Amino acid sequence: MAPEHRIRADVVVFGGGIAGLWALAQAVAAGHDAILLENQSLGYGQSRQAQGIIHGGGKYALRGVGDVAAMRAIRDMPARWRSHLSGEAEPDLSAATTLSSVCHLWLPRGSWRARLESWGMVPVLTSANVLASRPRKLARSEWPSPLDTSAVAVMQMDEPVLDTRSVLSALATPLLNRVFAYQGPGEDDTQSDAAVQFMRRDDIWNEVHVRPAADERPVAIEAGAFVLAAGRGNAALLSRADVDPSIMQTRPLRMVMLRGNLPKMYGHCVFGGKTRITITSATMSDGSTCWQLGGEIAEAGVDDESMKQTLRRTKSELARCLPGFSLSGLRIASYRAVRAEAKDPQNRRPSGVHLERVGANAWVVWPTKWALAPLLAEEIVAQLPAPAVPAVGADRAMAQFGFPVPELAPFPWEEARWIDVD
Ligand SMILES: Cc1cc2nc3c(=O)[nH]c(=O)nc-3n(C[C@H](O)[C@H](O)[C@H](O)COP(=O)(O)OP(=O)(O)OC[C@H]3O[C@@H](n4cnc5c(N)ncnc54)[C@H](O)[C@@H]3O)c2cc1C
Repeated sequence: MAPEHRIRADVVVFGGGIAGLWALAQAVAAGHDAILLENQSLGYGQSRQAQGIIHGGGKYALRGVGDVAAMRAIRDMPARWRSHLSGEAEPDLSAATTLSSVCHLWLPRGSWRARLESWGMVPVLTSANVLASRPRKLARSEWPSPLDTSAVAVMQMDEPVLDTRSVLSALATPLLNRVFAYQGPGEDDTQSDAAVQFMRRDDIWNEVHVRPAADERPVAIEAGAFVLAAGRGNAALLSRADVDPSIMQTRPLRMVMLRGNLPKMYGHCVFGGKTRITITSATMSDGSTCWQLGGEIAEAGVDDESMKQTLRRTKSELARCLPGFSLSGLRIASYRAVRAEAKDPQNRRPSGVHLERVGANAWVVWPTKWALAPLLAEEIVAQLPAPAVPAVGADRAMAQFGFPVPELAPFPWEEARWIDVD
């Protein structure tokens, strides 16, 4: 169907997760008349599921990972995020909530071998200048309470843990005149052309046709640059633009959640060269605490696992990581998550941010980690053509043609089906 109206913008960003919102903020700050299109709700993919840890490389070091590239990329992130959280740097994230200013790392009882193996790496990496700060060994009196009887050693890393939705809200709120919902393709829908159409001439992406609602006629948006920051949804967008979507890889996870009278915890249990469990905590609407369990526990059991199987696995993993900890009286739930990243030729986990040119004026991006979003946004804006002068007023035109403002996606634990552990 032919478009009914035409709009002009400097930059169109697809996807309102951490990557797209940060890129939009940075592009607008650099003077671009940029808009963002979201087909669900803001942060609906991985961003609302993220555990919110601003890694600085400490976890990699302690588990003996020698991926120096990954650690160099991530080393400066805690300090960088702190400057946004304090409001010193733009975008100003002073409205966001820091759940913990540090993250712990513990070795469970009975893992002396792992302790020797992994701690040997720290001095080497510190002297190679790939760690922002050395993990600090805590005196027993400083250990978080659940580790009292479970750990042989606890370290503290200066890595903040953030309430991810509050960060998305702090980023989006000043930009709500530039963030729009549209009828985009589903994440796995690489077929039908109804939802979105890219018009290209040779290598140049000229315009995109999108609709504010399913029963409305499309609007053509001509733009100087297109940034696909739709996480897993990038595959569907790429295929609409005749770009091979297999430049993306996905990794399924099954996140486990526990809820009840739990202490707040933010940390990783590391042994055998692996992050066995990463625990972060959130407060539920009834005041109870929800633990989100990531790490190796989430990599196993990704297929259609029954709740009974998930519970069995969780009990046995917690018995190893938190010996003596009782699940009695708690409730459990799980959900399936999918990590979307740039394709690694060996199917390994990529380390740094990924930005790939898919046209003369079009890029597809994956931050790889929530923590790396500021770095990715900087790289995106460095690639953009100069802003149009005077500004073309894309924000006003989009609102005029009926594109609504998207909601912020709920946290997974707010939508979960909980069952009693006992
Ligand atoms: C369970 C889990 C825990 C994690 N924990 C951490 C952590 O503690 N620290 C860390 O650094 N990293 C963490 N990560 C990684 C981090 O969450 C991701 O790297 C990051 O959120 C990716 O952000 P994104 O904006 O690229 O994608 P997403 O967050 O997936 O956002 C994509 C957005 O695009 C939208 N979209 C989809 N299709 C379309 C379309 N066709 N058109 C327009 N919009 C579209 C989606 O609705 C969504 O809003 C975690 C990931 C997972 C899954």
